Amino acid sequence: MIALFVGATIYLSYTVGERQAVLRDVVHHNDAWALSQTVQEFLRVGEAISIHLLSDQPTSRSNIRLRLDIAISRLSALREGSLRSFLEDMPNGQITFADLESVVAELDETLETMSEQELSQDFARLSALMGPITGLSSQAIQQSFTSVDENLKSLERLHLTFGAVVAFLILCWCGLILILIRQNRLLNLEQGQSMILNEDLHAAGKELRDKNRSLEYAANHDSLTDLPNRTLFWNELEAVIRSSRVGEEITVSLLLIDLDEFKSINDTLGHDFGDMMLQQVSERLRQFGVKAHIFCRLGGDEFACLLLHNNAEDSVTYARDLRAEIAAPYQIFGRQVQIDCSIGVAMTQAPSEEVGVPMLFKRADIALYRAKITHQDRVCLFEPFMQREYDERKALEADLRVAITERLIDVAYQIQLDVQSAELRGVEALARWTHPTRGPISPAVFIPLAEEIGLIEELGLLILTKACMEASTWHRPLMVAVNVSSLQLRSPDFVHTVQDALQTAGVDPRRLELEITETVLLEKRDDVFQVLHELRRVGVTVALDDFGTGYSSLAVLRDIPFDTIKLDKTFVRDIALDRKSQGLLELVSDLGKLLEKEVIVEGIETAEQHAIVRHLGCNTVQGFLFGHPVSASDLGALRSNSAFKMESLT
Ligand code: C2E
Ligand code: CA
Ligand code: CA
Repeated sequence: MIALFVGATIYLSYTVGERQAVLRDVVHHNDAWALSQTVQEFLRVGEAISIHLLSDQPTSRSNIRLRLDIAISRLSALREGSLRSFLEDMPNGQITFADLESVVAELDETLETMSEQELSQDFARLSALMGPITGLSSQAIQQSFTSVDENLKSLERLHLTFGAVVAFLILCWCGLILILIRQNRLLNLEQGQSMILNEDLHAAGKELRDKNRSLEYAANHDSLTDLPNRTLFWNELEAVIRSSRVGEEITVSLLLIDLDEFKSINDTLGHDFGDMMLQQVSERLRQFGVKAHIFCRLGGDEFACLLLHNNAEDSVTYARDLRAEIAAPYQIFGRQVQIDCSIGVAMTQAPSEEVGVPMLFKRADIALYRAKITHQDRVCLFEPFMQREYDERKALEADLRVAITERLIDVAYQIQLDVQSAELRGVEALARWTHPTRGPISPAVFIPLAEEIGLIEELGLLILTKACMEASTWHRPLMVAVNVSSLQLRSPDFVHTVQDALQTAGVDPRRLELEITETVLLEKRDDVFQVLHELRRVGVTVALDDFGTGYSSLAVLRDIPFDTIKLDKTFVRDIALDRKSQGLLELVSDLGKLLEKEVIVEGIETAEQHAIVRHLGCNTVQGFLFGHPVSASDLGALRSNSAFKMESLT
């Protein structure tokens, strides 16, 4: 388009230039008029001569001179420029012009001196030339007209061309405007589409952001309770500990909250119930959390809370209030339930170089552990000595692992005697561990430890096999009682394990008594009851150890399949001093008779206690009075044929 414009403009200026040239030509063709004027002047010269000749006055020659000079000047104009070329182009023009020049030259030279005769001769020559000159003039006028005509035609043509070019230019402009309009429409369309595209992109971006946000939310929150999860909590705690401004210290308190016995709720009331309970507990935390910086569910039945700017006393009070809040009754699926919790509290000043998030968690965990086992109100604030205890415990754990895998746990045996005949009934096998540096460690310490670190099955099997092997060496088929943890009974292979141990040692199952505690009843596990039934079916007897201490109830006696009641030593302690204790002992003895169960009384230390027990008619006795637990090698008497007699011991 631009090229076309440039071309058209150049052409336009060219045609304008041509028009100017033609107009100039039209102006120039007034030569004909100049020629006719010249003819007029010569006619006037002729007129002046004829007047002179007729009047014959001397003055009239000057009049001729005047006219002649004017005519000469006109003639000289004919000799130059376009008029000259015009005359040259005329036929006869040259001759006539030359003749006229010669006459004029003669007149000019001799006018004043020539005779009247000569003057009239020249006048005749001049008059003769007037006809052809006038013809030339009219010819010039004719030619001028033709030229003007031609020029006008050419002007018309140029005008047309000019008009066509302008029209073309206008067309171009119109085309350009049309193109621009179309372009504009296309642009608008394009813009509309890009706007739609933009909106789509915007919507997609928003969706992506929403998705990202919900993904981030899911990554940082617990799906069941909607509380922040461990990751978020950890990051938050880290930020708090790290980002405190220099010079300004914040007190940071971490509370670890663990629901007590939540597992049994899950097991007995179902997982839906358990989930609902966790949700309700979380809701209470949320409501309670106004003062807390953040609450989170760490997983399972563990929660955590972060407090800022609280001193130790405030933090512990907060924890106690929180515990009371959690312990209030819940209404779930139309049932009212309660759950307690333990809380471990650890504190630090932020920013801290030495205590980071892992360390703070560890400390709160140690406090929580202590809250569970020692604290009355189940809230414990971490103190440095707990760390030492914890480290020692960890070291002990490691040593116990080694002792169990290397079979370094020994078995001591304590004799059990028939109350009436004083004959040896059998022995109770008791685990013994002599630590390489610390010396003897009580089974009351290392048995629960083995349970906690998941090694109780190995340890139980170790004691069982050692006891069975020992029993197999005896000459008399005495009973051997082995203590069994409730965790061991959960193993579905337990009956086989027991049978294997008996078989390997070649011991009759009826000689083995397994001592269990009432805690097995707590869990009310069918599989455990099944195991007990199986054991009794293969001939092994089951004794209820520590009877009367824990959760004893008549339901225990009704539900657990067992053969022997083993009354705990705490009931024996006061029987010689206290009538009530004696009454209780009598009750248990009668109960045994009624249910046809053997009653073993343990912890007898004095002859008095022994006398009372014998008087009440219990079946079997065990205690320091008859013998402390001794090593297998010290049980030599059992290997001889000689029977133990009460008398020989007392
Ligand atoms: P337990 O089953 O009640 O074992 C009897 C405990 O009473 C033994 O303590 C024993 O030494 C002690 N004892 C016996 N006669 C008397 C007495 O006249 N007076 C007093 N005050 N105590 C007496 P020990 O050996 O320290 O065992 C403690 C507990 O450790 C046992 O209590 C038992 O529950 C557990 N235990 C020991 N060995 C094993 C084992 O091999 N497996 C399991 N699961 N538990 C074991
Ligand atoms: Ca026992
Ligand atoms: Ca006992």
